[in-house]
Amino acid sequence: MFLEIFRMQIRTRLTLQFLLSGGIIMIIASSAIYFSTAGFRTNDFYNQIRNSAVSTANLLFNEYEVDAKRVLRIEKDNPFKLHNARLAILNFNYDTIYRSDENSEIKISRSIFNQVKSGSKVAYKQDSYQVIGTLYFTNYDRFVIFSAAVDTEGAAHLNELKIILVFVCCLSFVLFFIVGWFYSGRAIKPISDVVKKVEEISITSLNLRVFEGNGTDEIGRLAKTFNKMLERLEDSFATQKNFIANASHELRTPLTSINGQLEVLMMKDRSAGEYKVQVQSVLDDIKSLIDLSNRLLLLARTSAENPMSLNNRIRIDEVLWLAREEIKKYNTDYRINISLDNSLTDSDQMVIIGDDYLLKVAILNLMENGCKYSTNQIVDVRLHHAKQWIEVVFEDTGIGISEVDLRKVFEPFYRGSNSNLVPGYGIGLPLTRQIIKSHNGKIELSSQLGKGTQLVVSLPVIA
Ligand code: ADP
Repeated sequence: MFLEIFRMQIRTRLTLQFLLSGGIIMIIASSAIYFSTAGFRTNDFYNQIRNSAVSTANLLFNEYEVDAKRVLRIEKDNPFKLHNARLAILNFNYDTIYRSDENSEIKISRSIFNQVKSGSKVAYKQDSYQVIGTLYFTNYDRFVIFSAAVDTEGAAHLNELKIILVFVCCLSFVLFFIVGWFYSGRAIKPISDVVKKVEEISITSLNLRVFEGNGTDEIGRLAKTFNKMLERLEDSFATQKNFIANASHELRTPLTSINGQLEVLMMKDRSAGEYKVQVQSVLDDIKSLIDLSNRLLLLARTSAENPMSLNNRIRIDEVLWLAREEIKKYNTDYRINISLDNSLTDSDQMVIIGDDYLLKVAILNLMENGCKYSTNQIVDVRLHHAKQWIEVVFEDTGIGISEVDLRKVFEPFYRGSNSNLVPGYGIGLPLTRQIIKSHNGKIELSSQLGKGTQLVVSLPVIA
């Protein structure tokens, strides 16, 4: 529903933007047409008035030798004269020589008269009249002519043009709206298709994918990114599902074994020695249960969003020595060779911020793996300093990891196909990676089947 409203809003917004930009262009274009036509018409009409005035003056001064009454009559009867045409001719002393508007509708002020007299072009509007003042020369004298007329025809034309332009504008607004609505609908259709598809996707149908179209335009890329996200979600859901199934299975195995052993023990009375052997075996199973549940707990704690307080200053070499000692307590055959290479010149280069217990767990796992997956039970641990990182390299010459397994050994409970004979749960590496990640570090694994394995843990140093 929300997405539907959002879609509607985008469509309406796009349509309105289309309408607005189109509308503004139309208004600007129409105004330009109207005002340029009006300007052109006004100038043209001024020219007409002046020409008509000059021809009347010619008539007056050349043909009828200043017989004003006659000229007036001729002018009145002129079928081509301009509407409401008025003419006033004044000499340079401001005396009126001829006037065709008996009621003196055209006001000629002294200042305007002087302007025309001085040769300036004077054209102005007085009420509905357009008035133009001009100089007129005969062979004997100079005059100032003021002529005026009402441009009824021009006004009617302009009015007509105005109506047409307003009508065209209104029509184009409607068209812009319809076209905008149609195109914005088409433009966002792929998005609404994606939205519809996304609405269908739930936890139980994470296998669904949205249509990617050609996959190259923005919407295609969005759909592609979304599909990739779905893939990751699906993977992590599958991993979680497997995790619970695997964890229950791993916990059940020692419990079943304990149950079986105790049942056998209860069947008949046994000697103290026999009881001791059985109880020891049950104790071993219980220990492995505790070990497994401890690791599971740690994995859960380190995967949580805010894992733990990682604020201790730790010397990584000290953690290495501690882990080595701890392993040696239970596995006296294991050989762990720790060395610092030439890149380390200062003990500060080995100081990191973190949780020493967790780091020890991670290092223990890697040392133990190196030894337990090698026939010689030797792991070389090398400390190396690289810019702001301290690198701990774990190297063994053991059974190695196949290419297929390399991609999966960091998944919880995954065990390499060649590790059946070695005890383990498949939690060590995922737990280690989680711990290193929570310390803002990196872990890289490389291995060759039958030749050996190298794991490089990089942690950021403080210095
Ligand atoms: P576990 O050792 O309990 O099986 P891990 O998570 O520590 O679990 O390791 C996962 C798998 O990775 C192991 O089962 C093994 O196949 C492989 N592996 C890890 N470290 C090594 C190593 N040093 N040499 C060979 N294989 C290894």
